[in-house]
Amino acid sequence: GPALRTHGLRMRYGQGTGLVNALDGVELEVARGETLAVMGPSGSGKSTLLHLLGGLERPSEGEVWLAGRRIDGLGEKALARLRRQAVGFVFQAFHLMDELTAEENVELPALLAGMSPRAARRRAGELLDRVGLAGRAGHLPSALSGGERQRVAVARALSNEPLVVLADEPTGNLDSAATADVLRLLDSLRETGQTLVIVTHDARVAAIADRLISMRDGSFVEETRLTRGGGRL
Ligand code: ADP
Ligand code: ADP
Repeated sequence: GPALRTHGLRMRYGQGTGLVNALDGVELEVARGETLAVMGPSGSGKSTLLHLLGGLERPSEGEVWLAGRRIDGLGEKALARLRRQAVGFVFQAFHLMDELTAEENVELPALLAGMSPRAARRRAGELLDRVGLAGRAGHLPSALSGGERQRVAVARALSNEPLVVLADEPTGNLDSAATADVLRLLDSLRETGQTLVIVTHDARVAAIADRLISMRDGSFVEETRLTRGGGRL
């Protein structure tokens, strides 16, 4: 079955005259190993969709399925466990722990997912190597550039060997060179068969996807299948 699936997904915020239909009945299926890009104007519901797919929030209505399991009705504890075990998040603003080194930041999700300290340390080393930051393992985030911080954040997102990686504007705070580095990394996730959903405003980012969905006012308005490799870096 698909990695992700939604049916009749709705999310409302506020009430009365302040009511916002952030998602207005979204039907989505993302295959295992697929890279999906989601674009659309600010306020169209992209972040809300990502949060619901990753179990950060629960929908007002409708179904969310992750790896064949229905998650929209799960309680906070079960959702937290599911996020620790099956989901990796990458945010625009990095969200690294300032007082932990790069290596410790990357170890944390593996430890929280139940890996032994030795195995988590080894995995963090491998991941920092993979993102080209083996030499920065002992640095605090404050000693790293924006691009380096985001590469640490991608390594952290992979730490628990997640089924799906959800990235919200992952290059939104980066210059062109750092964007290219992060894109190469995200594109390499297909080698390990990982499923990736990327919310972005940047056409270069969308170009690494297999499929592009455009949103407006909480709905999908267009879907484009991209030629794999067509727009690659
Ligand atoms: P996008 O990511 O496309 O910018 P969002 O998913 O962040 O869009 O927001 C969709 C709509 O839902 C917007 O109108 C936004 O203001 C509203 N919204 C998002 N989160 C909240 C919230 N926590 N409380 C109230 N309204 C929200
Ligand atoms: P924004 O786009 O508004 O800056 P983010 O997308 O960065 O917000 O974060 C959205 C929400 O997810 C925040 O409420 C944040 O506390 C929460 N969050 C961030 N990282 C994680 C995580 N690894 N697990 C669970 N929740 C997280």
